[in-house]
Amino acid sequence: MIEYENLGNVNKFFFEDYVNSFKDTLNSGWFILGTKVKQFEAEFANYLNMKYCVGVASGLDALILSLKAFNFEKDSEVIVPSNTYIATILSIIHCGLKPVLVEPDLKTYNIDPAKIEEKISSKTKAIVVVHLYGKSCNMDPIIDLIKKYNLKLIEDCAQSHGAKYKEKYTGTFGDFGAFSFYPTKNLGALGDAGAVLSNNDNLIIMIKRLRNYGSDIKYYNEVVGYNSRLDEIQAGFLLIKLKRLDEINNHKRNLAQVYLDNLKDDFIKPCIDKDYYDVYHVFNIRHEKRDLLKEYLLKNNIKTDIHYPVPPHKQKAMKGFITEQEFPISEEIHRTTLSLPISYSHSIEEIYKVVEVLNRF
Ligand SMILES: *Cc1c(COP(=O)(O)O)cnc(C)c1O
Repeated sequence: MIEYENLGNVNKFFFEDYVNSFKDTLNSGWFILGTKVKQFEAEFANYLNMKYCVGVASGLDALILSLKAFNFEKDSEVIVPSNTYIATILSIIHCGLKPVLVEPDLKTYNIDPAKIEEKISSKTKAIVVVHLYGKSCNMDPIIDLIKKYNLKLIEDCAQSHGAKYKEKYTGTFGDFGAFSFYPTKNLGALGDAGAVLSNNDNLIIMIKRLRNYGSDIKYYNEVVGYNSRLDEIQAGFLLIKLKRLDEINNHKRNLAQVYLDNLKDDFIKPCIDKDYYDVYHVFNIRHEKRDLLKEYLLKNNIKTDIHYPVPPHKQKAMKGFITEQEFPISEEIHRTTLSLPISYSHSIEEIYKVVEVLNRF
């Protein structure tokens, strides 16, 4: 059986280091906001060539705190892609703001910059872009719009650790880069974790307050805050994983190349372009008979996944929050997409095997 993902196998590579780091923290007796969190924040900021990184409890929280930091008027509008994981849209709703969905480009699966402007109104305050599957959005036209309409920009980088656009890392273009370290992500912890990156001194003070009860000094509360802190144990694991992030991304890129070079053209493959350094959090193909294809692969002992089966605007929970229902491109992607095995623990030989079985479909 070729599994879609086996985190036990992925984490075997780091086993001894993890155990030692855990023992360290256990012996230190300090579990919240200590030296490991500080060190990880410094090293991840440094990796991305950014001034500040603040560790938080999850990717969803990284997005929520980023939006909260601006203190937008209630019912302000936030532009977001119609083709994303639900967390991106939830963060907007949890802040009392209105998500305004924009269709993706059918080639890149990311927000189509040409379709943003028509959705901007006098109530629009920000754009949250998502670098889906590990490919950066087309940032130049988005930055032009941000400047033209004086909007804030938040990047959802939950799937794009180390991905670049024109040599610049995702998460470094806007006011905030919001990261998730959910265990399956390219930079994954052994539990929930996230981070907010920024170069803005004042905004980052606000994120630090918000993650820790609205407080700068213990027992003195400046704003209505949350408890959303990255903990020492996860920061220790992340420090180990961060040192290997480039290696993890390179491995995934090598596996992707096998798919790109060898899969028949019956399957719609991810596009590539010299301006984009993709890190393949997900390697998807599209096919008219997606469900049959998934079943066929399973019969041949290959597990796959679907990112995602139901588009956000069709989710029960979004009733009343997303009123517009015409997102045919997003629906087309959700109907036809299939994610193939591409984890750090997969070998090149396994990927050739997947290709061989796929090409016989
Ligand atoms: C994983 C993910 C999130 C949420 O991250 P959590 O750490 O699970 O809260 C947000 N956005 C996208 C695009 C994701 O893939």
